[in-house]
Amino acid sequence: MLKGKTAVITGASRGIGKAVAVRLGKAGANLVLSYRSNDAAMDELIESLEKDGIKAVKVKGDVSNSDDAKELMKVAKETYGSLDILVNNAGITKDKLIIQMKEEDFDSVIRVNLKGSYNCIKHAAKIMMKQRSGKIVNMASVVGVSGNAGQINYSASKAGVIGMTKSAARELAGRNITVNAVAPGFIETDMTKDLVEKAKDGMISGIPLGRLGLPEDVAEAVAFLASDSADYVTGQVLHVDGGMVM
Ligand code: NAP
Repeated sequence: MLKGKTAVITGASRGIGKAVAVRLGKAGANLVLSYRSNDAAMDELIESLEKDGIKAVKVKGDVSNSDDAKELMKVAKETYGSLDILVNNAGITKDKLIIQMKEEDFDSVIRVNLKGSYNCIKHAAKIMMKQRSGKIVNMASVVGVSGNAGQINYSASKAGVIGMTKSAARELAGRNITVNAVAPGFIETDMTKDLVEKAKDGMISGIPLGRLGLPEDVAEAVAFLASDSADYVTGQVLHVDGGMVM
């Protein structure tokens, strides 16, 4: 399905990004995997991908830094000769009620989640526009639509990602580049570990499908939007949340 395509996935060492890497790799894509700090997790992932015959290179860096984002796209082009898919998945949380939230907690979440996506789209688009093809998938969140107490910074960043997705979709459509977002609900990863331990039962009662999501649930939606099956889909937000937000 993605044979011979090059996919850049940010924040791929753990959680949803890792599941996306495995899913796109199994569909035949050659991978460029970004991460910020966790060398051991990334090395383990690359080793297991290679055992399955999947080509993957790692690039350590910070997506909120424009030069690091540029380097990521350059590695894709130089290693595999093209850049067909970008999955903007890297993200962080720094949850606090607004009266306790430090300015730095607000700024850093916006910088990684929102500016990081802008940096990567900008540098990827330059290559994709020349190719006259590309698929960009941004990781939003249900809370970017519904809001969530304690997540002013995070929900603002994800609402921003949704707006950015729609604007980029309009800008890039003429060059045959689609831009969509996936909005996961509560997915079992390191990001939600503490939250989930504390309030699992209460959370599940608010999910019509009656369970938390798995990273693999999100990876399936990304794989669809990154594939030729979604050629006529752009500017959309696909919720993968068990029906939490309708
Ligand atoms: P996670 O388990 O905490 O993993 C985050 C990944 O992002 C790691 O690979 C991390 O690298 C990388 N990363 C963090 N900051 C980075 C930076 N500045 N530059 C490059 N890479 C960076 O997170 P997750 O739960 O899989 O979430 C992935 C995405 O889905 C995020 O955008 C998140 O907001 C979104 N999402 C998650 C949920 C959920 O319930 N989990 C729900 C909705 C949306 P290191 O390993 O090196 O630290």
